[in-house]
Amino acid sequence: MTRRVKMPSEPPRFRGHEELRDSLQRALAKETLPATVLIHGMPGCGKQTLALWLARTRLCTEDPAPCDRCTSCRVALRLEHPDIHWHFPLARPKGSHSPQRLAELLETARHERLAELRREPLRAGDGTGVKGIYLAAVLAIRRLAHRRPAVSREQFFVVGDAEHLVPQEASPEAANALLKLLEEPPEASRFILTSSKPGSLLDTIRSRALPIHLPPLSTREVAAFLEEECGADREAANRAASLGQGSIGSALGYLAADGNASRERDQALALLRTVVGGRRADSYRAALDFRPAGARGLLDLLASLQLWIRDLGAAALDRDDRVVNRGELSFLRETARRLKIVPDRVARAVGQVEEARILAQGNVNPQLFMATLLLDLEETLKPPAPR
Ligand SMILES: [Zn+2]
Repeated sequence: MTRRVKMPSEPPRFRGHEELRDSLQRALAKETLPATVLIHGMPGCGKQTLALWLARTRLCTEDPAPCDRCTSCRVALRLEHPDIHWHFPLARPKGSHSPQRLAELLETARHERLAELRREPLRAGDGTGVKGIYLAAVLAIRRLAHRRPAVSREQFFVVGDAEHLVPQEASPEAANALLKLLEEPPEASRFILTSSKPGSLLDTIRSRALPIHLPPLSTREVAAFLEEECGADREAANRAASLGQGSIGSALGYLAADGNASRERDQALALLRTVVGGRRADSYRAALDFRPAGARGLLDLLASLQLWIRDLGAAALDRDDRVVNRGELSFLRETARRLKIVPDRVARAVGQVEEARILAQGNVNPQLFMATLLLDLEETLKPPAPR
């Protein structure tokens, strides 16, 4: 059964992290927040959402801010605020021969992506292909930053995934221009960089920004979000939240927006059934028949398999409350009993899938790769030899 997940028609209100938001609000009120900040945390944990929230808070005309109702808030929620400039990595457009043409094409691509986010605020990017924040974008930011805000007292430049700033390509002059901009921001201009790899940022950029760490949410908070904002049913929300590990962004990827997640869940269950069946010939056959749905499909499948193995561990400990795939509880219990599953072997099996996930990010032959993994898992999960 695949249930189409409802995506909200406007960006969800920011949730969680009350303490952090309180302290940011106080810093804004006391005018002590530096003009350049760097929000860092794991991928998909809401860094850019927090950045947009911060901008909205500052530009809101009501108290307490953000009210989500005043003109400024409403335009900002529609991603149309003339004083909130949101940049993020984009694929390099084809046919960009001159710097000026490149700048135009990038700006078009950025607006297309913004329109997409407006229609489906929670839709994750495709995550594939090489992307960058190019010199052209930096120059556009610099040009605007030196102008006065369009309608507000301040203007914001949000640069998402700032580790994708492409410094090599920039002339030294332009790189310096960006640094200079961050070092001495023009009056009324603020910069919010976000990154899940702050270590990959240029030192010179990092040292000019106040770091703000955004920790992951709890699985329960993520699940509640998926239920309330996306109308996911409880089981699907719990499953996606467990896979997302504190990140709404990744959890959304697992929520069956297009039915793939349930397909991968079934495929992973079939693999687990083969493994615990304990017949090597079956494992080989399953591996040879294996056809992942692209590189992303393979990663999702492995994540799903990990979750099944964790469920097996939970069932072995009689912790039914921790089992995410409740629908298969009797299979999990029976298997755990038959294989005399203990936590130690579950941990090892989860680790093997994790290693496989890392390998799978490179170029692998899916059938060979799967054969190795299934045989390893079989070895790990099979019951200890009787003495
Ligand atoms: Zn407002």
